[in-house]
This record gives sequence, C-alpha cells and structure tokens, in this order.
Amino acid sequence: GWRSRAAFKLIELDERFHLIRPGMKVVDLGAAPGGWSQVLVKRGATQVVGVDLLPVEPVAGAQIIEGDFTDPEMAGRLTTMLGGRADMVVSDMAPNTTGHAPTDHIRIIGLAEEALHFSFEILAEGGTFVAKVFQGGAEKAMLDTLKQAFAQVRHAKPPASRKDSAELYVVATGYRPKRLEAAA
Ligand code: SAM
Repeated sequence: GWRSRAAFKLIELDERFHLIRPGMKVVDLGAAPGGWSQVLVKRGATQVVGVDLLPVEPVAGAQIIEGDFTDPEMAGRLTTMLGGRADMVVSDMAPNTTGHAPTDHIRIIGLAEEALHFSFEILAEGGTFVAKVFQGGAEKAMLDTLKQAFAQVRHAKPPASRKDSAELYVVATGYRPKRLEAAA
C-alpha cells in the first residue's frame, strides 16, 4: 500500500497530465513519509531521489537523502547521484504552519519559489516541475518566472486534495533554460 494519502494526489496528477515516463530521473522534494517516491518508482521512473528534513523508511527502488533541499551542496549531490540532470522535480513540501494565515501563505509561496529556483539548477532541458502552491495558485512573480522558463504552465487541484484546503499544484512542462538565460 501507499504510505500517504498524498500518494493519490500524484497518481491523479499523473493520470491527467501523463508526467511520469519509464526511464525518468526524478527528484522528490519533501519526500517523507515516502508516498510520492513509491508512486514514482511504481510508475516506471528508473532513478528516484527523495529529499526530506525527516527520516524516510527505505523505499524500494528509490534513494533517500535526509537533509534540507536548500543546503548549498544539495544540487551537486543530486546530479552526482543521478549521473546528470533530472527529467522531473516534484515538490509536495509544506512548511510548518503557524496558524497565522498570512504568515503561512507567505511561507508556502516562499518554499515553492525556492523549489522552483532549485529546479533550475538540476532540471534537464524539456524537464517537468510540479509543486504544491496555495489558494489562487502561484503568485504573479512566480507565475511570470514559470511562464518564461517552461513551455506550458497549468494548475490543478487533484480530487484527493481536500476541498476545504487551499492546496493546489502547479504543473510546468518543457523546461527551456535558454529562454531563462536570455531574459536574465
Ligand atoms: N509527498 C509526501 C508523501 O507522499 O509521502 C508527503 C510530503 S509532506 C506533505 C511535506 C514534507 O516536506 C514534510 O515531510 C517536510 O519535512 C518536508 N519539507 C519541508 N521543508 C523542507 C526542506 N526545506 N527540505 C526538505 N524537506 C522539507
């Protein structure tokens, strides 16, 4: 069985957008307790590396790093482990909530933006970025960056995501690093 309810969200996103392809190299940010990593392996990704601050029970077919993805050495470590850049970066990360809605909102967006910039360091051209965002979706600034860096940007709320939660996922495909460089 799946280790998390969250596993169904990735399954539903994959069913809708056909994200996971056999042979893929994927980085799973915020992997604990391991549900998304299980889904990635099961759906044919050949190399999966999960990263989390918390320990994760071993996932057959995946590698796990216990650490903070913002660690300056993380990108290098991941590309070494994968033997090159990743085809997809997925992030189901959520910060610890304070209960103060505006603060929580800012933290969640901040984390998603950091995950996006991290993905620029490790994604291969044509790659995919999936991340949890909230409410109206990505903030304007993040959305502008996404649109510049990816051929297609969509938002989705998978049915497994509770209706009363403000959670939403951004699905960006067709990473184009050259467009990003030209704009910089
Ligand atoms: N997708 C997972 C699954 O299916 O099992 C559930 C992920 S859970 C909702 C979010 C995770 O993000 C938490 O385990 C948390 O520790 C992790 N996280 C938050 N900030 C992080 C960071 N800076 N680096 C690594 N992991 C982080």
